[in-house]
Amino acid sequence: MQASRWQKFEISIFSKMSQLAQTYQAVNLGQGFPDFDGPQQIKEAAIQAIKSNKNQYAPSFGILELRKAIADRQKDNFSLDYNPQDEVTVFSGGTEAIFCTIVGLCQAGDEVITFEPFYDSYPAATMLSGAVLKTVSLKAPNWSFDIAELKAAITPKTKLLLLNTPNNPTGKVFKREELVQIAQLAKDHDFYVMTDEVYEELVYTPARHIPIATLPGMKERTILVSSTSKTFSMTGWKIGYAMAPAALTKAIRIPHQFTVFCSATPLQYGMITALRLSYEYYHLLRDEYAERRVALYNLLIDQGFQCLMPEGTYFIVANHKNLLDIPDNEFAIWLTKEVGVACIPVSAFYADPEKASATSRYVRFGFCKDLQTIAAAAEKFKANMKPALAKHPK
Ligand code: PMP
Repeated sequence: MQASRWQKFEISIFSKMSQLAQTYQAVNLGQGFPDFDGPQQIKEAAIQAIKSNKNQYAPSFGILELRKAIADRQKDNFSLDYNPQDEVTVFSGGTEAIFCTIVGLCQAGDEVITFEPFYDSYPAATMLSGAVLKTVSLKAPNWSFDIAELKAAITPKTKLLLLNTPNNPTGKVFKREELVQIAQLAKDHDFYVMTDEVYEELVYTPARHIPIATLPGMKERTILVSSTSKTFSMTGWKIGYAMAPAALTKAIRIPHQFTVFCSATPLQYGMITALRLSYEYYHLLRDEYAERRVALYNLLIDQGFQCLMPEGTYFIVANHKNLLDIPDNEFAIWLTKEVGVACIPVSAFYADPEKASATSRYVRFGFCKDLQTIAAAAEKFKANMKPALAKHPK
């Protein structure tokens, strides 16, 4: 009954691991959403909008006031100028912005390149567009890429490169030198770059987030996607956005118009308040995440995982080879059932998860959790890890 084009896609591992976490009452450090809410005044603004009858369709491309707030923040943060009228669009989450970018720009005969591991919506959107997805590997442990491999992936059919920085799942923040290399190839071979910057505010000193659109000659060929989900700890509102030159913006607005049409009106009003918050909010957000990052890192190192302190995002990728040398998907299930802590196997972020899991010994933990949740995971590890390891038939 299912159309054959979807056959190689599965129900997402995030849903599966959350289900398993629930069944075994495990502390869920798997799925990447905060277990705390964003600021109260954002909620109040949305409630106010509902009460004052702002409950009908919004303009398809987003409430203008919100588009202005998005453009203002981009200008303040990165000196990037986008016209809210025809260069800024509001989507239902970064995921929809990514989807509309790929299906709006690509078609059969085109090729799309992305770095692997990648956010799992990229292959599905590329498949629907009719284009072919090619991958270039980010190599553990520091997730660098080989420029020769990237060059080899480029052909005259290359239409779009998908770049995710700060990167989920690795926590890598692409460095200026790396971005300069990618930008040069985009200009030399005339392809577009979609940058997924939804973790732009979750970058820890001394790392710095650099939008590739700020590099010379890149703004005109970049679609910059971001979202309020992580920045304001409101992942359930699904308010994302994209910024791009007018011609590209027009191309990505069409699929949006015919699928979602417009994002939830009162929630857009809420996010106007969010985007107008002062710099103190962002400092506090980062400080709190920095504390959670250290807490989770210390916990994982204490337990015998090997991991690098991530430069960005709210994820730590940890190597479990020294604990149990089994495929990462088996390890994630074992850890959830036997220890009571849920995580995500990194092989789930590869084009062929089954093949990747045979060699991958990496799992992803999220620190988008209260310190108490991280402490609860620590308790589970302390109580259950040693006995569980002792009884595992290695
Ligand atoms: N890109 C990446 C890399 C992500 O991790 C996510 C959220 N998991 C998104 C995009 C989409 O975010 P949203 O749709 O919630 O805005």
